[in-house]
Amino acid sequence: MISLEGKTAVVTGGSQGIGRAIACKLAENGADIAIVYVGNQDRAAETVSMIEAMGRKVKTYYCDVSNFEESKENVAKIIEDFGKIDILVNNAGITRDGLALSMKESDFDAVIAVNLKGTFNMIHHFYQHFMKKRYGKIVNIASVVGMTGNAGQANYSASKAGVIGLTKTIAKELASRHVTCNAIAPGFINTDMTAVLSDKVKEGMAAAIPMKRMGEPEDIANLALFLASDLSSYITGEVIRVDGGMCM
Ligand code: NAP
Repeated sequence: MISLEGKTAVVTGGSQGIGRAIACKLAENGADIAIVYVGNQDRAAETVSMIEAMGRKVKTYYCDVSNFEESKENVAKIIEDFGKIDILVNNAGITRDGLALSMKESDFDAVIAVNLKGTFNMIHHFYQHFMKKRYGKIVNIASVVGMTGNAGQANYSASKAGVIGLTKTIAKELASRHVTCNAIAPGFINTDMTAVLSDKVKEGMAAAIPMKRMGEPEDIANLALFLASDLSSYITGEVIRVDGGMCM
């Protein structure tokens, strides 16, 4: 059995989708939760109710992770409110798809800023906290397209490839302090991010997956739970696909 009793976790982008599933899974297994989100207050409130119903402490932080100073202030607030943090899940992410030829500079920059720099910002601001405690579990949400590339996602796939490089670097820097840093590379998961695709596109993509279905947020949350727990204490710098066999 996995127990996170007495642990506290931060989940960025925890208001909905994969982040909500991870926040709820960690809470279900005993962790108190800080949710970082930037837009959707109603969704964030729903997630809070779900976690409160499990009897866990939960607080939300309205914070754009791409903003270095805002992240710094919120990390300080989180540490003050919870006393300590054991688990950091960097899940916040956006897409702004288009062929590289026609991609606007602002769309390239925005995706790198949230997905890659946002992950760096949170790790940077929690770095000393984990180092001093000599304990920490960092889980970064990358994507299979960070490994394979994907036409129409130059910005997104580059940001996720960057997250993988960042994961391995932080794993090396902090391994001797008992801080692990791993990445999950989801395939095609059923959330708002993929809801914009037409049914025809979704059916075509699902047909190309060996398991013949899209993944669910819980498929990612199950691995996040393992990587956030001490069952994975000798695993660091790893990137694990959760994609129904799509990119093997
Ligand atoms: P989603 O439903 O669109 O959720 C994204 C979350 O990120 C939301 O909670 C959003 O908060 C938050 N967020 C966005 N920009 C932010 C910012 N600047 N600062 C703080 N929070 C921010 O997407 P999802 O599908 O669950 O994706 C979660 C992660 O999985 C992302 O990193 C995504 O790249 C990755 N992923 C998803 C898939 C997939 O197929 N769905 C596949 C591979 C990887 P608000 O709603 O409050 O704005």
